[in-house]
Amino acid sequence: MAERTIAAIATPLGESSIGVIRISGERAAETADKVFFAFSGKKLSELCGYRAVYGKIKDGDRVLDDAVALVFRAPKSYTGEDVVEISLHGGRILLREVLRLILKNGAFPAEPGEFTKRAFLNGKTDLTRAESVMGLISAKSESELRISRAAHTGKISRKIEQIESDLTAADASIAAFSDYPDEDIEGLDRDNFIKMLENARKELEEMLSTYDAGRVLREGIETAIVGKPNVGKSTLMNMLSGSERSIVTDIAGTTRDVIEETVTAGDIVLRLADTAGIRNTDDAVESIGVDRAKARIDSAGLILAVFDCTSPLDGDDLSLLESVRGRNVIIIINKTDMESKIDKSVFEGFRTVETSAKSCDGYERLCAEIADIAGTANLDPDSAVLLNERQRACAERALDGVNEALSALLEGNTMDAVGVCVDDSLAALFELTGRRVTNEVTDEIFRRFCVGK
Ligand code: GDP
Repeated sequence: MAERTIAAIATPLGESSIGVIRISGERAAETADKVFFAFSGKKLSELCGYRAVYGKIKDGDRVLDDAVALVFRAPKSYTGEDVVEISLHGGRILLREVLRLILKNGAFPAEPGEFTKRAFLNGKTDLTRAESVMGLISAKSESELRISRAAHTGKISRKIEQIESDLTAADASIAAFSDYPDEDIEGLDRDNFIKMLENARKELEEMLSTYDAGRVLREGIETAIVGKPNVGKSTLMNMLSGSERSIVTDIAGTTRDVIEETVTAGDIVLRLADTAGIRNTDDAVESIGVDRAKARIDSAGLILAVFDCTSPLDGDDLSLLESVRGRNVIIIINKTDMESKIDKSVFEGFRTVETSAKSCDGYERLCAEIADIAGTANLDPDSAVLLNERQRACAERALDGVNEALSALLEGNTMDAVGVCVDDSLAALFELTGRRVTNEVTDEIFRRFCVGK
């Protein structure tokens, strides 16, 4: 059955010079012909692909706007179907009015991610490329953009294909053995077989090892800046934020909207939850005692514990130090532009950075320590970095399959048993790229997109 023709606004709703409405499906051009009238008199449905025409959008005799219509013909379009993109003035009310008119003329409203889902179902993109579109659109840092762009250019798919080809070759060896069971597998190519599995294992391990660091680059890291009042926490925040003042974001899904400020340390976005506590010195007096500060320390992926070197450490300092022991913590010895009166030996075993937040001294060293702790120091954002938990879980399953195949082989199990493990591994990789995936998984992935993508 032919997919129904869908339409949606593809650009953000606001005040912008241009807004785009996208129509996709078998009747895209015919539907657009009912609302768009070219000055040349040409019908969109008579045009071949990659043509742009200038005209008017009309509801009956009423002219709604001037517009340019771009025609794409299947399969050479984003979705792989016939597509018309109408560019008009980008007003919220205007775009909605024209979309309503298009829907009245036979198109159906597109569901979230439906254009990209159709591109996937029509073989225009694999799942990793499709998933990277979200990152391209919503990247909050240059690193996140680079990771998404690498995936969009097919870095992940190519790497997975390479692993698949090793496993498929291993599978073929098993088939050969099953067809000629009397032949000696040792003689056949046991070494080569093991080498193929070990190659696959190495590649998968490599990909999985960069996942956490990639996630930090994409999502930032929840950071708690703790310390007694007046040690320089706010000044440190200012040093980190530099000229780019913090962004405030609403986090959906919480019982109340949490206001989150972010600063950047080199490539890494630090998400500073509950910064009110930092500013409010009264709260910080018992910063170790109060539940709020404790919760901040407990949930943080990174703790920056600040100490003032100009006065000897007291009991509060020492209990703070104990409360962060064993955590991902950087001890910041601040105010080093002044004479130090502290005994630094208490920080032994901790990662420490000396700063003068006031004069921005120590910024580079702090960034380097943060990158080291977050594992991003050696991550190349232009390489094949897995984009989300779904991809990570598939790669993990693929690795389990390869490891089980190798164990089965070394333990002298039947080649059929080895083959089952290799097949499990391949199935996980097919799911990762979407070559073989259930409708439920596909629906779940695209549901997270927004309408118009
Ligand atoms: P907070 O209460 O921990 O947030 O501390 P603030 O950032 O408000 O700083 C307290 C005082 O210490 C302010 O007067 C700052 O100017 C000063 N201060 C902060 N960092 C430094 C530093 O590195 N050197 C010097 N000399 N003073 C600093």
